[in-house]
Amino acid sequence: MREVFDVTIIGGGPAGLYSAFYAGLREMSVKIIECQPKLGGKVNIYPEKVIWDVGGVPPITGKDFIDCIVQQGLTFNPTVLLNTKVDKLTKEGDLFVCETSTGDRHYSKTVIVAVGGGIINPKKLEVEGAERFEQTNLHYRVQRIRDFAGQSLLISGGGDAAIDWAWELSLVAKEITVVYRGDELSAHEAVVKKVQHANIPIYLHTTIQSLVPDETGTRIKEVVLYNEKTKQTSVMRPDHVLIHHGYERDQSFTYDDAIKPELVRNYFCKTLPTGESSVPGIYAAGDIAHYDGKVHLIAGAFQDAIHAVNCAKTYIEPKADKSGYVSSHNAIFESRNRALIAEAVKQAK
Ligand SMILES: Cc1cc2nc3c(=O)[nH]c(=O)nc-3n(C[C@H](O)[C@H](O)[C@H](O)COP(=O)(O)OP(=O)(O)OC[C@H]3O[C@@H](n4cnc5c(N)ncnc54)[C@H](O)[C@@H]3O)c2cc1C
Repeated sequence: MREVFDVTIIGGGPAGLYSAFYAGLREMSVKIIECQPKLGGKVNIYPEKVIWDVGGVPPITGKDFIDCIVQQGLTFNPTVLLNTKVDKLTKEGDLFVCETSTGDRHYSKTVIVAVGGGIINPKKLEVEGAERFEQTNLHYRVQRIRDFAGQSLLISGGGDAAIDWAWELSLVAKEITVVYRGDELSAHEAVVKKVQHANIPIYLHTTIQSLVPDETGTRIKEVVLYNEKTKQTSVMRPDHVLIHHGYERDQSFTYDDAIKPELVRNYFCKTLPTGESSVPGIYAAGDIAHYDGKVHLIAGAFQDAIHAVNCAKTYIEPKADKSGYVSSHNAIFESRNRALIAEAVKQAK
């Protein structure tokens, strides 16, 4: 028998996870569908970056912040599907149907679209055989700063991410070299100046031509560089190679024509500030939502989520309260609060 959820949330980033929490608080049944193997959304591309600007949260790394939002998002045990891409949203009778790339169909009374700017993956190095080094010393993101402590590092790229990391990792790495195919770095000027003053070598017009494996075949031993201007090659032997060539975005998620909400640039969902799209039953939260005054930050995603859930709730139950109760007045937390107080009393004894 097919299972029908009150709300299906497409996307498991900050907006999707907070929607799941808030919908649980409003006693709705929830399914999250996320195409990546991990929850957390775009924050997964900056796990070591320190986030300073989420209200009430002291400076926290992206990685630790993901742990917090995942824990909160799963409070009411939503059904979570990972590695599942929703290709199309359609409708069958009164129910919305999320059609996935594997041909599965997920039924729901309402849908919150929380797909952000799309499915984001780092652009891979276009060098033959590069993928075999991804488990060892070829990186597309900085997972742990400590991995680079005392190591020599070659960074390829000239944008903000590459140059920010050249600067930050220069505090821990033994040696850093930057190569960039262009004739001028495109990163923020202030950081470029810091990198130049720190005498970090920057080779412009230079690309990685090939990677030479060590005897195990799994680690990069040598990097062959090619200078487009001089037409010369040179060889480096860094301990690690970090690639920051930008990101690929998949924005192919779409709607059946009969329920297609008003879109902006054929992707972003035009909504009211309350998350309501032009189609009743379809709501948007987070970076995908487009309205005057939209805040493209994590804090903005949280507010969008509350609105979207409240609208979904009253779409299903028109007589339901327009908004949820604050957690201290919400019966759903009563037993959890009691358990926390009992634990605190036990600790104090
Ligand atoms: C480098 C960088 C640094 C940032 N730093 C900060 C900061 O310091 N503070 C701050 O507040 N904000 C910061 N932001 C912005 C913040 O990350 C975003 O505003 C926030 O992640 C938006 O959350 P979201 O849930 O709307 O979208 P996302 O985080 O993009 O999540 C969307 C999710 O939907 C999934 N998805 C997409 N399409 C589909 C599909 N068809 N089927 C299934 N799943 C799908 C994606 O895989 C993704 O997991 C930063 C952004 C970047 C890029």
